[in-house]
Amino acid sequence: MKRSIIASVAIVLMAMHCVPASAQSLFAPKEDPCGYPDTSSAQYKSDAALNWGYSFDSLRVDLARWSLSPFVRVDSVGATVQNRPMYMMTIQDTTTRLRKRVWIHARTHPNEVQGTWVTNEIIRFLLSSKPEAIKLRDSCIFNIMPMYNPDGVELAKPRENANNIDLESNWNAATPQAEVQALKRVFLQLMAQPNPIRVALNMHSAYACKRYFVYHTAAGTSSLFATMQQTFIGYARTAFPGGIEPYTYFTSWPSTPPPTQYPESWFWYNHHEAVLANTYEDKNCTAAGGYDSTASAILIAVGKHLGILTTTSVAEEVVPSDLKLEQNYPNPFNPTTTIRFALNPSLSQQERVFEERVRVILKVYDVLGREVATLVNENLAPGSYETDFSALNLSSGIYLYRLESGNSFVTKRMTLLK
Ligand SMILES: [Zn+2]
Repeated sequence: MKRSIIASVAIVLMAMHCVPASAQSLFAPKEDPCGYPDTSSAQYKSDAALNWGYSFDSLRVDLARWSLSPFVRVDSVGATVQNRPMYMMTIQDTTTRLRKRVWIHARTHPNEVQGTWVTNEIIRFLLSSKPEAIKLRDSCIFNIMPMYNPDGVELAKPRENANNIDLESNWNAATPQAEVQALKRVFLQLMAQPNPIRVALNMHSAYACKRYFVYHTAAGTSSLFATMQQTFIGYARTAFPGGIEPYTYFTSWPSTPPPTQYPESWFWYNHHEAVLANTYEDKNCTAAGGYDSTASAILIAVGKHLGILTTTSVAEEVVPSDLKLEQNYPNPFNPTTTIRFALNPSLSQQERVFEERVRVILKVYDVLGREVATLVNENLAPGSYETDFSALNLSSGIYLYRLESGNSFVTKRMTLLK
């Protein structure tokens, strides 16, 4: 939850949307106008002792599992106050062209574990074979930090790091906390890439028991930025009908200059409309759930915002392309695997009759880009094909396979495990 410096009008909005008075009595509202839970209760203490159900070890187990995907790389991009690694996942397929970068970080506030559940579902979606996932992997680079504050999680701090500092609002400190410094460094590096961050999402949860994005008003940003946010939130709402509140639900940054203490502040002051940087708040209450619906709604909104997914309904989002290359099966493999591909897969049988044969090349390369095998090099008519690849004489490792026709190409990777 974002405890921002907000104008009185926004505080009124918050109060209006906080949990009803009857439910509020379950909590002991402390500093939070929306009903911060009673951290002295036995239930709260026991939940906290168990890291609210998802510890640093839980993350490490998941990272090991996710790393098995050919689309995932895991790096440590810094260290916390207590020297825990700050893990960042990179999710992308292996196509070489320039892609749009999306940043997501979660668990700034350890007791907002719902942000983690949504983020984990985002990861699961991105690694799936859903058509939208394939398109997102093909057109984007996702950099995801699932646990920004592992010290806080392990020490059962509701909102703080090991130095009892709230990392969320530490960005304007003269000497920011180690975690903030690390994240700033990563942002600086990624923004200097030829494909800088275009969308940055900061995953939290709120006791208001609503799902919403923290909207930065035009008065505190710009009318262009306001429109960008409204459109983005609209996409998410369309993809999850009734699930996510409208942008008017929680407004912040009511005037200029906007606050300087948040990660979104850093993006705004340095990059303005170039980065759509917003906090997402999931439900932090017993009615929480629907994490998979939330995750897919957020990803569909990201895809539409970046022009990758069309703005029609989800079912129609499988936009035809002239080349389709499937993940080899089995993968990992030893020593043979099957690769399926299709040319103009969207054409009807009738249309295919009039389509000319085109030169199609499917080659396998090692990770250094050295050609290992040519599987296809011939003129083919539109349709679906499959070919086997035998790696009898090759050593274990990652190999790339690339399908090429005319100016189009698709590359994927596979793992040989002997
Ligand atoms: Zn929070």
